[in-house]
Amino acid sequence: MTHKEVRVNRKAAARVASGHPWIFSSDVLDRGDASPGDAVHVVDPGGRLLGTAHYSSTSLISLRMLSPRSETVDKEFLLGRLKSSHDYRRMVAPDTDAYRAVYAEADQLPGLIVDRYGDCLVMQTLDQGMDLQIAVIAECLVRMFAPRVIVARNDAAVRSREGLPLETRILHGEVPGDIRVTMNGLSFQVDLIGGQKTGIFLDQRENYLAAARWARGKALDCFTCTGGFALHLASRCETVEAVDSSAASLRAAASNAQANGISNIHFLEANAFDLLAGHAAAGRRFRTIVLDPPAFAKSRSAVEGALRGYREINLRALKLLEPGGVMVTCSCSHHVSEAMLLEVVAQASLDANRTVRVLERRTQALDHPILLTVPETHYLKCLVLQVI
Ligand code: SAH
Repeated sequence: MTHKEVRVNRKAAARVASGHPWIFSSDVLDRGDASPGDAVHVVDPGGRLLGTAHYSSTSLISLRMLSPRSETVDKEFLLGRLKSSHDYRRMVAPDTDAYRAVYAEADQLPGLIVDRYGDCLVMQTLDQGMDLQIAVIAECLVRMFAPRVIVARNDAAVRSREGLPLETRILHGEVPGDIRVTMNGLSFQVDLIGGQKTGIFLDQRENYLAAARWARGKALDCFTCTGGFALHLASRCETVEAVDSSAASLRAAASNAQANGISNIHFLEANAFDLLAGHAAAGRRFRTIVLDPPAFAKSRSAVEGALRGYREINLRALKLLEPGGVMVTCSCSHHVSEAMLLEVVAQASLDANRTVRVLERRTQALDHPILLTVPETHYLKCLVLQVI
């Protein structure tokens, strides 16, 4: 098969040489006759081959590198990449039936997410190239996993930058009535169609265990969603107050608690910022607090406002901690670096007049791998801190 060719400038060539898979539209010199979603040859100004990439006609990211070689992006190629992703998960996520099976750029499959929940798969094709291959990818997944169902949760907003529709579709099989997975020995119900992201949060799986290791006394889980942290804290703590602003998430969390025979979690629908201020006014104290808010910075321009949000929430929480108390504080905004989060929390500790030690500096679970040369793949920061 002959490839279409897209010519890029020296800056883009240097970026590819530095190990980053994205080429921006401003660095494209000549798109040739590339059509939306084509796998194209990328060449430098002198015509030297840089590799094969998926082309997007509308996104600011015009090219996503798939390989440094000339490659025919067909079923065999995709199956090879999917199999290496799978081999890696067998090593890093052996004890769970819920994990991220494919994490886009970090698995050299830019634009593709696949999450596994027991015998159900949920996928997202987030660029024109992967979207064009959706049927082929589904075929590969059927062959590898023999799943009961494959759902395409293509309702992610980033698809609109690719000119792709926002939709949820069933690609294979039927959605079973009750889907349960086991994470760290606890059972969680999964809503493939209506849940946040692709169902439940998988990236905190290892941090749940870390939090549980340090937890005791009275605990507060401020953004509990379907109860991930709260359920893990329950066996270690007297009581857990689990808070979320979404009633639907709390219903799911409560049913997860019940399914695991846990009865010491109190669920509360509230805005976490207001709730923390109310607890401070009432003189409440906690031994363990978890802050896992949604991404406050969804873009670079939102970073400043986000830092104010992180500072505020950490300040309010630190004021509620007993001496010796532990706070697990997270940020899933990739625009907010670990250094930025550490600085914000340090400032909050000064304002709260607390001396705080760092017990652990953590990140996303290993099934969401981080590529050394692609900083965007590192998005989750999780600090375990103790007031001394
Ligand atoms: N800790 C969860 C994931 C949290 S996702 C887990 O491990 O599964 C962020 C959650 O924060 C969402 O459930 C969202 O409903 C909730 N949320 C967003 N803004 C909030 C606010 N101001 N107060 C309380 N909850 C909020």
